[in-house]
Amino acid sequence: MTVQELDKAIRRVPDFPKPGICFYDITSILMNPEAFRYCVDQLAAITKDLNAQVIGAIEARGFLFATPVAQALGLPVLLLRKKGKLPGKTLSKRYALEYGEDEIFVHQEDVTPGSRVVLLDDLIATGGTLKAGGAMLQEAGAMVVGALGVIGLPFLGYEKFLDPVPVRTIITYE
Ligand code: IMP
Repeated sequence: MTVQELDKAIRRVPDFPKPGICFYDITSILMNPEAFRYCVDQLAAITKDLNAQVIGAIEARGFLFATPVAQALGLPVLLLRKKGKLPGKTLSKRYALEYGEDEIFVHQEDVTPGSRVVLLDDLIATGGTLKAGGAMLQEAGAMVVGALGVIGLPFLGYEKFLDPVPVRTIITYE
């Protein structure tokens, strides 16, 4: 598998969720075991390079990639979830969306001060979700050593927005 072949495995859905937006749909990667394996291998190599100790997985599609990567490397998976999903005591962080606001949560007792965490999502657009997730973990004393995505849209400026946390993606689109 090459990055060109991965590109062919990603379905584009024009005008979703609204007119003018091209949605990069990773369900087509999940339907292609070779492409999925390629993504997991690449993400595992990056995670290892960054010497991460924990994978922070962003709900929901980030979960799909984070769990096989964590199992391949023998690392724990820390779920960063939407409101009302985590039963234990949580930390949270609000963040702005294009219209409105969202909030991300994590189990407080699962964040270890000083631990090296990489955050992982399927796609990085503005970087807003990862920035909020990273800030929440940093405030609890963890070290965010990388922001990982299968797909990146760098024209939206996430590199600068997430600086100094390094961003790594497998494939980017302009
Ligand atoms: P950000 O917070 O602006 O970086 O947006 C990233 C979040 O929006 C991720 O959780 C993605 O799953 C989701 N997202 C935005 N655009 C797309 C897309 O084209 N395909 C899949 N997910 C997307």
